[in-house]
Amino acid sequence: MKTYDIVVIGAGPAGCFTAKVAAKSGARVLILERDPEIGIPVRCAEAVDEEGLKEFLEPDPRWALNRIEGVTFFAPDGTRVDLNVEGTAGYVLDRRAFDKEVARLAGEAGAEIWTRASASGLVREGNGLRIKVNLRGRKEEVRAKLVVGADGVESRVGRWAGLRTYCPLKDMEVCAQYLMGGMSLDSNRIYMYFGRNLAPGGYAWAFPKGEGIANVGLGISGEFARERPPSEYLDAFVGKFFPSAYILGSTAGGVPCSGGLRKMVADGVLLVGDAAHQANPVSGGGIIPALKAARIAGRVAAGAVLGGDTSAGRLHEYEVEWEEELGRAHRMAYAVKEVICELSDDELNGIARSTNELPPEERTLGRVFKSALLQRPKLILKLPWLLLKMGVK
Ligand SMILES: Cc1cc2nc3c(=O)[nH]c(=O)nc-3n(C[C@H](O)[C@H](O)[C@H](O)COP(=O)(O)OP(=O)(O)OC[C@H]3O[C@@H](n4cnc5c(N)ncnc54)[C@H](O)[C@@H]3O)c2cc1C
Repeated sequence: MKTYDIVVIGAGPAGCFTAKVAAKSGARVLILERDPEIGIPVRCAEAVDEEGLKEFLEPDPRWALNRIEGVTFFAPDGTRVDLNVEGTAGYVLDRRAFDKEVARLAGEAGAEIWTRASASGLVREGNGLRIKVNLRGRKEEVRAKLVVGADGVESRVGRWAGLRTYCPLKDMEVCAQYLMGGMSLDSNRIYMYFGRNLAPGGYAWAFPKGEGIANVGLGISGEFARERPPSEYLDAFVGKFFPSAYILGSTAGGVPCSGGLRKMVADGVLLVGDAAHQANPVSGGGIIPALKAARIAGRVAAGAVLGGDTSAGRLHEYEVEWEEELGRAHRMAYAVKEVICELSDDELNGIARSTNELPPEERTLGRVFKSALLQRPKLILKLPWLLLKMGVK
């Protein structure tokens, strides 16, 4: 049986970046990926913010397709608001190539990668763990001192380790998306659409990828998906806004948009990325938060195995650092999401109209949120309570 310092389960951005950092720090790392090819299938609208991306990689035209220089919102009544995003530009990625690039960095740092390798269970053994793997149809086992659960929204690693990873239905964004051609959008903007009938508890999007191609999708809160699946909302959205575009592909998936997990570590186990509910609760964007958490996770994991202490107490350093760098902002974002979800269509229409009364240079996200609070003064009273509830002081 092969033995590694660290076995990372899942070769998305979270797993590969954790592996890269840990391998660079001197740990012997194996990545297990269930799918035959890293980056496929794509379950993502592929937008990231430029500042966050540049902390990790210089944008490369092989995987950074479109620079986003503007954001357009559509209110439920169709009112269009072009927001000023100066200083907060972004990119629409090609995740098939981007995920491979992050995996390549892990490989270059010394990590071993197995594809078509599905982890199916963990067994504790002395100070380490035995991981059961279905490798290309064969049953295998590998040993590790530490396991990183980077197995995304369907994560089972946390549960295997006894962690509470349940995401309340209302916080699970259930998404459906088409890759569409024949789209006549400005390819340097992204477009977001709001409305109770359009995407309850979420929003719809069109993120251009160039040459008339775009990711067109939506996410709705899981509590509404029981009554009507997101695919039906998507067909209605496309029929209304892009009747002459054509479908090139389709995908579906979920994003845990909770306030975060109470515990992300157990003895010998650490969770990162969607497996640890680290996506931004407002936007559902999980790529950059996953990379940021992975940077901490990889360093702490390597330090723990090389120092001979992989106890939950030692790994708690990851939770502490995550809290300092990201946790507070994450819970703030969750509180903001709660406020947004309370707004009615009429209130959203009012916010759009009052934003459009501002001079263009003042139309920023911050102003939109301020305007939301002014529309519903009751929300101002509720905000401190929400922040307290989320532990933000
Ligand atoms: C429709 C949709 C649109 C989205 N749009 C955006 C967006 O525009 N911008 C953004 O930032 N985020 C977006 N997200 C969220 C984003 O895709 C995730 O937050 C991000 O991929 C998280 O990275 P990760 O590495 O944690 O998980 P993933 O990228 O999901 O990687 C997990 C990997 O683990 C593998 N795996 C799972 N179980 C096992 C197992 N047992 N054994 C081995 N391998 C396993 C999976 O095959 C997968 O490759 C979107 C999500 C959806 C569903």
